[in-house]
Amino acid sequence: MHPNHPKTWSFRKQLKTIILIAIFFIMVCGLFGAWRLLQFSSSQGSIQQSSQALHQIFSTNFDKTRLIGEIHTQLRLYLQSGKADNLYLIQKYSEDLRRKLSTEEQKTLGQFLEMIDTLEIRMNSLRENTKKIPQTEKALIDISGQLLDISNREEGTIIRSLVVGSCLRHHQLYVAAIVTSQIDALTRIQLDAADIFTSLDAKLTALSKKLNSDQQLLIERLKTANYELDETVHTITSIRITTLETQQKVEHFLEILNAGVIEESLTKNTEASALMNSSLQMARTNLLFMSASLIGSAFMFAMIAFLLNQRMIRPLVGFVELLRRMTQLLAGLRGQQVAEDENLIQLSEMAISRHDELGEAAQAVKMLITRLRELSLFRQTIEADESTEEIYARLAQIFEYKLGLERFVILEQSDENSSAMAPVYCNPPELSPELPEFAIAEHCRAKRTGLMITSLETPFICKQYPFSDTMDHICIPMLVGGHVIGVVQFLFSLSLPEKVQHIKNKAVEEARYYIAEALPILQAKHLAQQLKDMATKDPLTGLYNRRYLDSIIEQFVEGTIRRKSKIGVLMCDIDHFKRVNDLFGHDTGDFVLMQLAQICLSCARKSDLVIRFGGEEFLLLLPDCDESCAATLAERIRAMIAAHKVQTPSRTLQQTVSIGVAEFSYASTKTIWEIIKLADIALYQAKENGRNQVLICQDDSVDKKLKNIP
Ligand code: GH3
Ligand code: MG
Ligand code: MG
Repeated sequence: MHPNHPKTWSFRKQLKTIILIAIFFIMVCGLFGAWRLLQFSSSQGSIQQSSQALHQIFSTNFDKTRLIGEIHTQLRLYLQSGKADNLYLIQKYSEDLRRKLSTEEQKTLGQFLEMIDTLEIRMNSLRENTKKIPQTEKALIDISGQLLDISNREEGTIIRSLVVGSCLRHHQLYVAAIVTSQIDALTRIQLDAADIFTSLDAKLTALSKKLNSDQQLLIERLKTANYELDETVHTITSIRITTLETQQKVEHFLEILNAGVIEESLTKNTEASALMNSSLQMARTNLLFMSASLIGSAFMFAMIAFLLNQRMIRPLVGFVELLRRMTQLLAGLRGQQVAEDENLIQLSEMAISRHDELGEAAQAVKMLITRLRELSLFRQTIEADESTEEIYARLAQIFEYKLGLERFVILEQSDENSSAMAPVYCNPPELSPELPEFAIAEHCRAKRTGLMITSLETPFICKQYPFSDTMDHICIPMLVGGHVIGVVQFLFSLSLPEKVQHIKNKAVEEARYYIAEALPILQAKHLAQQLKDMATKDPLTGLYNRRYLDSIIEQFVEGTIRRKSKIGVLMCDIDHFKRVNDLFGHDTGDFVLMQLAQICLSCARKSDLVIRFGGEEFLLLLPDCDESCAATLAERIRAMIAAHKVQTPSRTLQQTVSIGVAEFSYASTKTIWEIIKLADIALYQAKENGRNQVLICQDDSVDKKLKNIP
């Protein structure tokens, strides 16, 4: 992963945050729920208690009301009939009631019972007095009857009718007194009774004056009886009044008791309805809370799902899709570079905007893709390069300008058969003279082991390394197919700051990718070169063959004509070579052939073409070189060969060569092949002249000689 990517908002953190929010939410809901539950259970207890208490009160009050009702009924019955049963029941119910009453109410009940006792006395008194009424009436009627017997008829009849009338009226008043329940009416009855008594008494007094003493005696008895009747009626009325008053008081106490019960019932009823209201309120609040919790939970889960989707799943899916596209593009990288850019922009945006693992991954993938693109571009570029030298130069550019590695050497094994390894690129070039050339490549540790060799970890690891005192080195073998074709050596000043050295090491790591990318192409170029060499060079001498001459001669000549220049042509043949073969064998012949070819090659310039023209014949084409220049070179070759001692394992040999020289001019009417032929003729002439000599072809003489050739 890229170390610089700021992963400040990682998936782990995001998940943690989401989980924390959920836990917080659950805790808040849980706490609130627990609080509600506590409140509910405590209030449920109090509600239960209150409702039980209320139930108790209501049933007690119901009993009280019932008992008061019973007492009231019995009181009515008692007042009507005066029966002891009713009184007994009143007392019994009162006793029952007492048990259900408060102390205060019990006092009222006590007063009630006292009044009942009074009432009983009154009723008894009333009953007693009521009994007197018929007796008194009878006495009145009887006395008036006696009076009727002893008086004259008229007066007797008047008195009797007065008495009977008075009795009747008194009786009516008595009945009215019994029946009426109004104190006013009773008071009036008392007055009326007094009036009746007074009226009869006055009439009797008036009549008495006309009567004799016996009759007056009877009148006096009548008057007494009248008084008694009136007194009884008066007493009954008085008792009735006091009874009524007592009854009112009794009923008043009953009402007080009843009112207390009713009031309590009403109060408790209000309490009950308040209790019910509060229960309902609580139920409603709990329901609301539950609904809110449910909605909140649903919202919470929706939010978590939304967050997960927005923050992780969608970007992840997008990223995977992007990776899929990039993988497809990478598969066909060569043709798709432009199309990649859009994806790379997307990746960059993701790497910048996201501060989590996805951003980190996007950054890493972007870097990977960028590197792959750069490597791919590099590979495409070097594939189009013509030679390994160009490839090395391009690698060097990357090392120096892109990776900041200023000092390095690229060593290459000349070819597969060669055991030597030599520098092919050196930066800076001033290093070049000081570099070791490995005549035996295996002396190089990196070449031998195929491993990266660094003095940073193991100082003085390589004995061949010449700069141990001033520079550290990292040597990277160029390994292809298990074979090391060369070594890249990076050089660093000793005692670089650790941070700088770290950066350099990273750059070397990067450089390895480029080297690895270049290796197959270098190998391919080497193989192509080998193939080309096999087709155009003679395997024994390493000189170009005639096929090569055929392929380039036209271009070679055209260049000379364009430059208005000349080509020097040397045809060189080893003298008496057949004898070498015959005397020392073919192998020795081959060895001699190889050595003499090398002398020809060493005498020629880089631009000259040296060709094995026949078995022991070499053709040299010397561009921009006239006849005399060619003759000079020919002479030098001849002299060098003549002086050269060929050292074979068994003996030392000395050979000579004969050389024919000719010149091709841009102005010449002859073709190059005709000029080569002329050189060959000159050679033939040199042989004729005794060998080991150079002969310049003279056009005229050639013509002559040509004619002389059999
Ligand atoms: P002269 O001085 O007249 O040129 O005599 P010469 O013997 O060199 O000439 P000749 O043409 O008679 O013989 C050439 C010999 O070179 C014949 C052949 O055996 C030998 N030869 C040609 N190619 C090769 C080769 O590749 N290897 C060896 N060992 N011998 C070769
Ligand atoms: Mg020869
Ligand atoms: Mg020959």
